[in-house]
Amino acid sequence: MKLVRTIPEVRAEVGRARGDGRRIGLVPTMGFLHEGHLSLVDRCRDSADFIVMSIFVNPLQFGPSEDLDEYPRDLERDLAFAEERGVDLVFAPDDRELYPTEPTAVVTPKRLADRLCGLSRPGHFEGVLTVVAKLLGIVQPDVSVFGQKDFQQAVLIRRMAEDLNIPGAIEVGPTVREADGLAMSSRNAYLSAEERERALSLSRGLVAAVRAYREGERDVRQLETQIRERMEAAGGVAVEYVSIVSADDLEPLSRATDDAVAAVAARVGSTRLIDNTYLARPDAGLARLAEPD
Ligand code: AMP
Repeated sequence: MKLVRTIPEVRAEVGRARGDGRRIGLVPTMGFLHEGHLSLVDRCRDSADFIVMSIFVNPLQFGPSEDLDEYPRDLERDLAFAEERGVDLVFAPDDRELYPTEPTAVVTPKRLADRLCGLSRPGHFEGVLTVVAKLLGIVQPDVSVFGQKDFQQAVLIRRMAEDLNIPGAIEVGPTVREADGLAMSSRNAYLSAEERERALSLSRGLVAAVRAYREGERDVRQLETQIRERMEAAGGVAVEYVSIVSADDLEPLSRATDDAVAAVAARVGSTRLIDNTYLARPDAGLARLAEPD
């Protein structure tokens, strides 16, 4: 595995691999890798045989009062994980490499960013789409893989690629969880033991909704209430939203369908956490927890 820091080096390495007839895959990350990120590498390998992982904490997607400076970073550890998982090339640029000057053009979502996480994080998805468009332009992968964990992000990236005719497939891998259901996240590192216990109420709420859906509940208000009650009962969990929406256009629903996604966001202490699930098709971790007792 090779580590490169500059755009010309990435282009040279990728060009060589492509010249050898290899299919290029890209897994963009902000580092502090966990099994969720690494599962995307596995997924990428199903349809590519030269895997590029980017590691870049993108300042453009952090608001002024957000955790850019504290965001956990450990490149040495990330490189060991990436190599072990079979990544071929890590691209870890610094801020000046990706943003050498104040940008003239950015990618601003016109729709779908004005809800869910977008409400509390103005400008966040503009930052995400801009950096992803840049990474796709730099690597020009045959396939890139994103996580369902960041559900709204995945929908927006897919739509951007369609709208801007960016070539290459976009795939979404399922959320990977700890054994007790907590969705893996680099931000879990911020949680104290007590906060971590409270944070479990997000996935527990989703489990309750998956079960209720399976038992025939279709009333979105009822389903949302079940989730919210579990989160509020945990104490010390400030619910930001609990929302059941249609998976492709993020429109709020009144009756749940097989394409409905339940999405939640909350602050536990000062840590903002998100989670979500398809009501009809939970990821393996949630499905196991939602099995009848
Ligand atoms: P991040 O480093 O948090 O920006 O995440 C990089 C990529 O990994 C994004 O596409 C995320 O959606 C994805 N990801 C983060 N956490 C998980 C998880 N627990 N399971 C699956 N994918 C994840």
